[in-house]
Amino acid sequence: MSVRAAWSLAAHSRFAEGHGGESERKSAEFRFYEELNDFLAPERRKTAFPVPIDRGRSVKDAFESVGVPHTEVDLVLVDGVSVAFEHVLRGAERVAVYPVFERFDIAPVLHLRPLPLRNPRFVLDCHLGKLARHLRMAGFDSLWEPDYDDAEIVALSVAQKRVVLTRDKGLLKRRAVQRGHFVRETESEKQFREVISAFQLERLLKPFTRCRMCNSPLRDVSKECVRGRVPEEVWKEHAAYTECPDCGRIFWPGTHYKRLLRLLKRVAE
Ligand SMILES: [Zn+2]
Repeated sequence: MSVRAAWSLAAHSRFAEGHGGESERKSAEFRFYEELNDFLAPERRKTAFPVPIDRGRSVKDAFESVGVPHTEVDLVLVDGVSVAFEHVLRGAERVAVYPVFERFDIAPVLHLRPLPLRNPRFVLDCHLGKLARHLRMAGFDSLWEPDYDDAEIVALSVAQKRVVLTRDKGLLKRRAVQRGHFVRETESEKQFREVISAFQLERLLKPFTRCRMCNSPLRDVSKECVRGRVPEEVWKEHAAYTECPDCGRIFWPGTHYKRLLRLLKRVAE
């Protein structure tokens, strides 16, 4: 008997005790790795535990039932073999669930996430307005409105291939959402650093190229053009300006600019 077969039998007797009748409940043994543990109840972190399978259940349905959104998962191994989300568990399997791998290549196993986007675009839930402004200032296309509801966020994500950023796990469990990130941090500058790191955006920063209020790309305007549209003391001091074609705001390297520049330098290090 192979090691795997022996393990499988042992798991079956452990998690699927009783044969026939109503006492029979099949399970698969799950173990979650790295930051996926954040989503689990404390007693389930960094340890194997059974998840009920009953008459068959997709692997995605099984891990979402214990709190892990599918958008956070990149690789699922069932008895050592990589499978798709739809893979049906029958009971007694050993399932290992891994998060999106950031820094190393695990080819040729089956990745469940598409490859990282070259020009990542985001849609943020209504609680993440400050994060949206930081991302826009760093040059990332980031849709956000204070009154977005879940359906709008999902629709924008699907139609425009945008990554959903949210602190609502329920939103990330929606079937249609392909790309998403559960934001762990609660303070906006830490959230910004978290997103830059999670999506490896350090090399894609384009500071001050996008309007922080309405997300539109900014255009350069001459000093002459902004005379009378900015305070006189600003006009005397600054030579370079940009303008938002949508809201008409004029931007120059003032105090807000310097603060964000410091933040960007920290994330780029
Ligand atoms: Zn604007």
